[in-house]
Amino acid sequence: MKKIRSSNCIYAFSSLMKPVETIEPGEIVVFETVDALGGQIKDENDTAYLDFSKVNPATGPVFIKEAYSGKVLKVKILDIEIFDKGVIVAEEGFGVLPDVVKGFKAKIVEIKNNMVCFDNLRLPIDPMIGVIGVAPEEGEFPTGTAHRHGGNMDTKQVKSGNIIYLPIFQDGALFALGDVHALMSDGEVCVSACEVGSKVTVKIEVVDRKIDWPIVETSKGYFILVSLPDINEAFREATKQAVNFLSERLEISFDKVYMLASLVVDIQVSQLVDPNKTVRAFIPKTIFH
Ligand code: CA
Repeated sequence: MKKIRSSNCIYAFSSLMKPVETIEPGEIVVFETVDALGGQIKDENDTAYLDFSKVNPATGPVFIKEAYSGKVLKVKILDIEIFDKGVIVAEEGFGVLPDVVKGFKAKIVEIKNNMVCFDNLRLPIDPMIGVIGVAPEEGEFPTGTAHRHGGNMDTKQVKSGNIIYLPIFQDGALFALGDVHALMSDGEVCVSACEVGSKVTVKIEVVDRKIDWPIVETSKGYFILVSLPDINEAFREATKQAVNFLSERLEISFDKVYMLASLVVDIQVSQLVDPNKTVRAFIPKTIFH
């Protein structure tokens, strides 16, 4: 099994980035990741010395043979093993309430017996991947910004047992991931989750499909993930994508399928705090049976 070390990392998903490893489709790969702060905060007073150029690293990128532009990368998340310490940060000017915190604050938490120890509270971990993506169609996106190529989608369904599909824009796909969270809730209101280092094991395949945005498949259904600067625009695009998804599979008229979407599709928020906000349209598998 190939292992990609966290020292092989990117800070932007670029159409021109160079791979650190090449794999065959169907291979299982382990990605070692440091936390979203670049592993720099070991003490709650370390915030003063943070080097922002080392924030949001993603491990990779990996070149996948036969992953041609126009196809879809299918990434099954097999396991997320997290480190035993997490960090949560809040910063003035960021988050849903940008003016409640002065300066930059950090909280270190221990992770013990599959629980995040937040003061006296014991919160069950639910590890997930914040940043996951491929090379974009053109230019570059900082790893902190999500778009069609994936990136910082901070979506809690991107976790062990689920599959994420990513549109491929460059031959080889150039896949990378990072920013693992021990626990995060929808919205990620204070601007960070419980950020941890990790070892993520994935199986990477290539499929013949056409998708416009990343899609997560779970046992219950499909989440279409749309990330745009304006959240209302993101809601509209996610709704349109969901209606198209239903219409292609059910072969009924657009008007009718739009009405059906109002009955079965849930529009949800993943995160409200990154440069592009991420929303998701959930389509339950039950309607295809
Ligand atoms: Ca993130």
